[in-house]
Amino acid sequence: ENHTKKLIEKTEQYGAHNYQPLPVVIAEAEGVWVKDVDGRRYMDMLSAYSALNQGHRHPKIIQALKDQADRVTLTSRAFYNDKLGEWYEKVCQLTKKDMVLPMNTGAEAVETAVKAARRWAYDVKGVPDNKAEIIACTGNFHGRTLLAVSLSSEEEYKRGFGPMIGGIKLIPYGDVEALRAAITPNTAAFLVEPIQGEAGIRIPPQGFLKEAEKICRENRVLLMADEVQTGLGRTGKLFAVEWEDVTPDVFILGKALGGGVMPISCVAANKDILGVFNPGSHGSTFGGNPLACAVSLASLEVIEEEKLVERSLKLGNDLLEKLRGIKHPSVKEIRGRGLFIGIELTEPARPFCEALKEEGLLCKETHENVIRFAPPLVITEEELDWAVERIRKVFEEKN
Ligand code: PMP
Repeated sequence: ENHTKKLIEKTEQYGAHNYQPLPVVIAEAEGVWVKDVDGRRYMDMLSAYSALNQGHRHPKIIQALKDQADRVTLTSRAFYNDKLGEWYEKVCQLTKKDMVLPMNTGAEAVETAVKAARRWAYDVKGVPDNKAEIIACTGNFHGRTLLAVSLSSEEEYKRGFGPMIGGIKLIPYGDVEALRAAITPNTAAFLVEPIQGEAGIRIPPQGFLKEAEKICRENRVLLMADEVQTGLGRTGKLFAVEWEDVTPDVFILGKALGGGVMPISCVAANKDILGVFNPGSHGSTFGGNPLACAVSLASLEVIEEEKLVERSLKLGNDLLEKLRGIKHPSVKEIRGRGLFIGIELTEPARPFCEALKEEGLLCKETHENVIRFAPPLVITEEELDWAVERIRKVFEEKN
């Protein structure tokens, strides 16, 4: 108790207050379980916003980290490193693209994709410089850099941070007609999350992505899928675009790409798009570093070897069904795909998350009224049943 309070105080004293964490101080973790500084055990039902699909400290990933740490950790891109090519090849194999550009965080990968699209429009489509337009969706979340918040429809993300980056048009998420109407000869790309995570696990109407793909192809507009949160098994497919059999021109990946161990992100696309970058036009000191690449390679292997995509689909369906069996007057909708599930309430979700924490289950509200459940994909059926019982108890007590 004392440790928790003291450490929170120290953290709040010296740290910027740009988050509102639940009052739990995590000190150890393994698989789906974490332990706080006072020795209490919790199940992690958030997975660091889907960055921990492989679970905490997966042995294979930690081994890769240690092995690589004993050899070389950083070269910068002034030189080649012996992990980069191998990792590129793996990412290309999974995305079925032929070129990769490495970054570190999701927001940086989004920046990279937007820069690539603008330059592609300029070089290939003949759009004059400074005229390229990017279409994004209301409710989107693409990160917190200036470009990412410029893309956002959330006024609170932008207030006082202006001027925002221009050339951005927003359409209502799921509205194909609005997409069609928003496209001009200067449109470079349509940027979309196949399922909106931060907006509260919002699944677009069936057919939206497929139709968007068609409209983009007809108009020579790049379809860019931000799969930072939905990718790598979270939704029960390797990539969430597969739910509509859609092939985006550009994949944006992050989070679970580093297995919850190293920050690593990337853009994957074909050479006609990513080939627009030339030496000097883009980069990052840490992007593609050997430590992150070694960890990412192991992280991707774990997804395949442990069939995490299939697990996510099956366990997600089970969990959805069990959650739907919990009746409560405040439940508006329970929705999700794979182990990416939201319970939308007619009241604030935070008190439910606080009560769940007391029951030993860590999750986080999103968008005020939605409880998000996104456990590590290595979770077992028994562990999920345990979680469902805790959730049932909290809902019953709040009835
Ligand atoms: N895109 C999406 C869809 C995300 O969910 C997030 C993070 N929640 C980001 C981008 C930003 O990633 P990062 O926090 O690593 O910058």
